[in-house]
Amino acid sequence: MSDNLIDRRNFMKATMAGMGGFFFLAAVENKQEVRAQGSKKWIYRTLGKTGIKVPVVSMGMVSAGNPNLVRAALDAGIIHLDTAHGYQRGQNEELIGEVIKGRPRDSYIIGTKVWSPYNRMTFLYTEEATEEAFLKRLDASLKHLGLDYLDILYHHQVARRESALFEPILKAMEKAKKDGKTRFVGISTHRNEPEVIRAAVDSKFYEVVLTSYNFKQRHYLEVREAIAKAAQAGLGVIAMKVMAGVTFQDPLKPINPSAALKWVLKDPNVTTTVPGFNTFEEMKIDLAVMEDLALTDSEKEYLQKQASLPGLYCQGCGQCMKQCITKLPIPDLMRAYMYTYGYRKPAFAQELVVSLGLPRRICEDCDSCPVKCSIGFDVPRKIRDVARLRDVPTEFIA
Ligand code: SF4
Ligand code: SF4
Repeated sequence: MSDNLIDRRNFMKATMAGMGGFFFLAAVENKQEVRAQGSKKWIYRTLGKTGIKVPVVSMGMVSAGNPNLVRAALDAGIIHLDTAHGYQRGQNEELIGEVIKGRPRDSYIIGTKVWSPYNRMTFLYTEEATEEAFLKRLDASLKHLGLDYLDILYHHQVARRESALFEPILKAMEKAKKDGKTRFVGISTHRNEPEVIRAAVDSKFYEVVLTSYNFKQRHYLEVREAIAKAAQAGLGVIAMKVMAGVTFQDPLKPINPSAALKWVLKDPNVTTTVPGFNTFEEMKIDLAVMEDLALTDSEKEYLQKQASLPGLYCQGCGQCMKQCITKLPIPDLMRAYMYTYGYRKPAFAQELVVSLGLPRRICEDCDSCPVKCSIGFDVPRKIRDVARLRDVPTEFIA
């Protein structure tokens, strides 16, 4: 029996037990309210001590490209849009800026994430991660959005406690808040999330946590525990990567987005989620979740089945990075692979792959590959596949 198989079996057992726990959660209603939204009734929750009340489904902008879809989401009652300084080199923020032009400023909540350069192996900041550079990026984001201030400014892509507490960035965010450039400050993490969330709580600085959280995470019990601690301390918690790397778009592998969303929202400590719907039909499905969070029997069955499969979601455990002879940033490459084949967003994947500064020859010179992925990914095959995006002219990619 291979190690991978043992891992997967244990994972399956833990996941089943955890989902059982979720099925019996009872007190969700105490932390939420139901509001009429046209002919529908949507569930709202409060974002910690910020006091912001939002529907439990918001819009993740990572793969957004259609301004009419964003307009439709806002018209339907979505309040919160989640973007980032780096998405499509600022064009994502510009798209939002175009859509919100003319809308009352208090009718929407904008969160954007500002990154700083870090070492892809240690996840610690490099010398270029300065207060000034952070503030410069923030100003560029405000310009793209056409706004004087954000609702939530995030310290983006944090994977270590040291980074969460990194003084130059904390100072920059403090200054941004003092200068009225943001109402609230937050932190985003999609690797080593429990450590980062605990650091955010300890800092007594952050007001919002944006974290990966989904039914395929092997360490979701630890994430759930950290989220509970954050909520107790008054931080608002927003969940991302809730679909676990799968989308609607592969007809051969139909997925159940409602089940994945409900699984996250069964946790009463999560205020809202930011799924990235790409079509009007997908939007309709995601919004309908807000009318009833109860998992149906077929949704439970779907989650149990999917939880035992490796799928496309890299756990970010980092085991492979210690083993790789050339120290490639494998989790980032697996994320790019997921963007390509899960989200069907090769442009986004290409941007990530190019940003990694990879060697020209990749996974071609090792006699044999010692990398054993903890969930059984064929790492070199996926790397060679996704690295081809470097050679595709940008204008050929949708
Ligand atoms: S084949 Fe690729 S993943 Fe494997 S050790 Fe070599 S460079 Fe690393
Ligand atoms: S590729 Fe596999 S071993 Fe590497 S971080 Fe992802 S899940 Fe862990």
